[in-house]
Amino acid sequence: MGFSEITSQERALRVLQGTLRTKRIPNAFLFIGDPYIGKTRAAVVYAKALNCYNSEIDACDICISCKKIEQGIHPDVKILAPEKNTITVDSIREVEEFVSFRPLEGKYKVVIIKEAHKMNNAAANAFLKTVEEPPIDTVIILICENIFGLPEPLISRCFKLYFTPLPTKKVKEIFPDVEDGVIRIIMGKPGLFTSRDILKEIQWFNSTLKNIIEKNKKSPWKDNEEVKWWIDLLCIFLRDCIVRIFLKESSNGNFISAYCSILPTDFKLKKGVSLEHLFELYGELQNIKRSIDLNLNKSIVWNYVISLFGSLIAKH
Ligand SMILES: [Zn+2]
Repeated sequence: MGFSEITSQERALRVLQGTLRTKRIPNAFLFIGDPYIGKTRAAVVYAKALNCYNSEIDACDICISCKKIEQGIHPDVKILAPEKNTITVDSIREVEEFVSFRPLEGKYKVVIIKEAHKMNNAAANAFLKTVEEPPIDTVIILICENIFGLPEPLISRCFKLYFTPLPTKKVKEIFPDVEDGVIRIIMGKPGLFTSRDILKEIQWFNSTLKNIIEKNKKSPWKDNEEVKWWIDLLCIFLRDCIVRIFLKESSNGNFISAYCSILPTDFKLKKGVSLEHLFELYGELQNIKRSIDLNLNKSIVWNYVISLFGSLIAKH
C-alpha cells in the first residue's frame, strides 16, 4: 500500500515523496494538524519508504524492513508518545541516545514523536540541541495538533507539513455503510470512528448536558483528549442551534423542518438566546480547547462551562 493507503492529504504526501525522489531528506519534520487524520500513519509510511529494500520512493510493505517497521520491531525506528500527558526530558534523553548511534539495519534512523506539543519546557529545550545538530542519517518527525507551546527556535528548525481533516465525501468513501449523521459528527477525522464508539459517545454527551443543567460539580472527563472531543461535540450542538435559529429567522419557520439536527440530543437551548451570543460562546469554546494543551485544570474548565451554559440549556 505505501503512501496510497493515506486518504487525502495529497499536498503533504507530494512533499514527502518529493524529498525521497530528490534524496533531499530534511533532518526534522513537524507534522501539524487535528488528531485522527493520518499524521502518525504518514510518518510510519515515510519511515518505511526511507528504509525500504525494494523502493526508493515508497514503502513496498513486503520487504523485511517494511514488515519490521509495521510491527514496531525495527531497531532503527522509534516511536515516542507522552506518558501521563507529558513528554519529559528523560524521554528526550532516550531519543538523544538512540540517535547517537548509526543505523543498525536500515538506511536511516527515524524517530517519531507523537503529540510533540506535550513536551514540557525542559524537554523542548533539551530536544532543540538534537534538532540543531542532528546526527547524519537521522530523521525526526514531530507530530502535533498545533504549534502553540513549542519553542519558536524548535519550530523554525523543522520542515513543516500541514495535514487537514478529510472532506465528508472522502470519509463516506472510507466508511460506505456508516450513516450520514455519524459521518458528519466525525468531522473529517476517520480515526475517530475507528477508535471510538460514536453512538455510545452521543449518549455520554447527552448525560453531560444533563449534568450541566443540574450544575453537577464533578467534571465528566477522563483526560484532556476527552475534554477536546467533548468540546467538539458541544460545538456541533451549538452549530445545530445556530442553523435552527438562522432558518427560523430567514424563512419564518417554513424550512425549519428541512433541517435535521446532526447531533441527536435530548436537549435544546432556551428560547431567546441571540445568534450573537451563540457565536461568542462558540469562540469561547475554541479558546478553552486551545488552553487545554497548556494543562488547564479540568475541574476549572467544567465549572466555567457550567457558568456559560448552565442557564441556557433545557430538556426538549
Ligand atoms: Zn519495503
